[in-house]
Amino acid sequence: MNSFDPDAIRVHDAHFIGGEYLRTPGPTLDVARPSDGQVYAALPIGDESLVGQAVENAWHAWRRSGWATMAPRERARILRRFADLVAADAPTLAPLEAMGSTRPVRDAFAWDVPFTAEGIRFYAEFADKIGGQVAATDHGHLGMTIAEPYGVVGAIAPWNFPLVMASWKIAPALAAGNAVVLKPSEMTPFSVLRLAELAVQAGVPAGVFNVVQGDGRTTGDALVRHPLVGKVTFTGSTQTGAAIMAACAHAGTKPVTLELGGKSPQIVFADAPDIDEVANRVAKAVTVNAGQVCVAGSRLIVERAIAEPLAERIERIFRGLSAGATWDAEGTLAPIVSNAQAQRIEGLVDAALKAGAQARCGAQRAQVGAAGAYYIPTLIENVTSESAAVREEIFGPVLTLQTFDSEEEAIALARHADYGLAAGVHTADLGRALRLVRTLEAGTVWVNRYGRSADFILPTGGYNRSGVGKDLGKEAYEANLRFKSVLIDVNG
Ligand code: NAD
Repeated sequence: MNSFDPDAIRVHDAHFIGGEYLRTPGPTLDVARPSDGQVYAALPIGDESLVGQAVENAWHAWRRSGWATMAPRERARILRRFADLVAADAPTLAPLEAMGSTRPVRDAFAWDVPFTAEGIRFYAEFADKIGGQVAATDHGHLGMTIAEPYGVVGAIAPWNFPLVMASWKIAPALAAGNAVVLKPSEMTPFSVLRLAELAVQAGVPAGVFNVVQGDGRTTGDALVRHPLVGKVTFTGSTQTGAAIMAACAHAGTKPVTLELGGKSPQIVFADAPDIDEVANRVAKAVTVNAGQVCVAGSRLIVERAIAEPLAERIERIFRGLSAGATWDAEGTLAPIVSNAQAQRIEGLVDAALKAGAQARCGAQRAQVGAAGAYYIPTLIENVTSESAAVREEIFGPVLTLQTFDSEEEAIALARHADYGLAAGVHTADLGRALRLVRTLEAGTVWVNRYGRSADFILPTGGYNRSGVGKDLGKEAYEANLRFKSVLIDVNG
């Protein structure tokens, strides 16, 4: 895909409720393009009453439309059609996603849009596969479980992959027969509206998939607390996840899935085959989307014997990346989502350097045009596990390097006080790899690779403060269902 003109892209500065765009008077938020900082829209902030309208509408649409009660294969057919429409809409969706987020247009075409479509297709296939089970009871009884949807699922998404993160929430919820009210991030709010439009075109009944716009404090909180929201599913920071969990409890307890932050280690042993390939893997794991990835491999833990040659190679790769606007097809390093986020990255790196760490490269912003925030990939050495750069989720292209001499030391360094989202192990020794797979406190461990495959079947989710429950896999489908036990006395 060639570069495109961001000014040519129009957005709907609206909510999407009951199958239609809805504009509301009231307070708004300026929305800026990450690539150049230019404000391009005023986002309405949905208040409690607007959220109530969306949820009640979803509830009635859910009950009246027969979405939950139709033949599951028909629901699957509609969702497959939805997936096909999303895939075919790439010429609209990819530039829309790229304009308003940190996703380079080339990646939006190659990955975000097809991956969103395929995720919807994956969950469509579950619609008629899981309905409950017959239980082992004595022959005087028939016992079974029946899988039933919650009704309205409230979904809250982050800004880093707006379409993909939203699809991980809405696809299993819809396939399981729920209605959804989605609140995207206020920083990247528009591309999901197009998804909602396409869902209606595909035959998802109007009102079954809604989008409310606004910030977290007003709109997100109202959604979480609404009594007709039967289940909440959230992706975002650990801090917000904790607030949402508390709100779910205060609202009278409701189930919640939380996909939260991470600070994932990449452990490299000296026997890892092909050091050039390992360097590529390690570098990519912290520079994709400029490191604004929950599973970014942001802590390199490397056996001392190969630390220097590996660091040299990673530094070379980092220096070869060139920052560019998301609509510039040549750029190899994405922008940072906002100036405030870039300042946070700067603050954490500066603090580490002041405390004695050294940066082999980066540790400053890149200049692209007059505005927009870009951060040069940064490799920091001489850090301890107490350093803020090692402890905090930086959410930028910043890699810390720590060395070890033994497997035990590597495991100790990999352990994080809070997070346990993902980990990478690079070694030729299968026994050692398996020992680490068992030992590491992480929801996902990759061996001799870093990052997901194109499959959807492996669930993703964090250990410890990186989350509660799973996205993806059969697990995410089942998390959108509740199971009713039925016991029938056959002689009664
Ligand atoms: P964030 O927590 O600031 O915001 C996420 C969403 O929550 C936004 O839509 C926001 O408006 C909303 N929100 C904020 N406060 C709220 C409240 N009190 N009640 C209800 N909603 C509220 O996160 P972010 O900055 O958008 O995203 C980056 C974070 O997301 C990182 O920590 C990253 O690791 C995490 N993340 C995790 C995964 C995963 O799968 N584990 C995936 C992507 C991102």
